[in-house]
Amino acid sequence: MQTIPTQIKLFKFASKGLIFSQTYQVKDFPRISDLANNDDGVVEVELNFSLEGRRIPCIKGSVKLDLTLTCQRCLKGVDVNLQPSFNLAFVQNEQQGQDLDAGFETILSADEEFSAIEFITDEILISVPMTPMHEHECASYKETEVVQQEKPENPFAILKQLNIK
Ligand SMILES: [Zn+2]
Repeated sequence: MQTIPTQIKLFKFASKGLIFSQTYQVKDFPRISDLANNDDGVVEVELNFSLEGRRIPCIKGSVKLDLTLTCQRCLKGVDVNLQPSFNLAFVQNEQQGQDLDAGFETILSADEEFSAIEFITDEILISVPMTPMHEHECASYKETEVVQQEKPENPFAILKQLNIK
């Protein structure tokens, strides 16, 4: 398999049925890197080009990556494993996509050439959680402050003291 070229040439790659795969790092995707705290994290990408239906260029792809995001509850790092996959058909108009099977997501696009990094970035961003959080209970940075301020006295503790006599 070949590595992914910098520029995707949609119809050209699709008509040849090319398959590409490449291992990137998080820092290769500036917009993802801005959200994450692990620039050296591995990003595995596979792109599979084909012509479907009435010569419609399609890209079937899968991405695997681990991102260290900021937990929105405790503000510490939370590791998130993402495996976005997609099956896109690039149509010139809506009628063109009607013969395609339902497994394709149709995209209205006239661009023959576009940046591979930007394209992959968009597909990854769809899968990034808006408010990442630890799965286990982590203390909220807000709640911990409140708890320290008002620690209610346990009425049973007072009763215990009285009974000691
Ligand atoms: Zn947390």
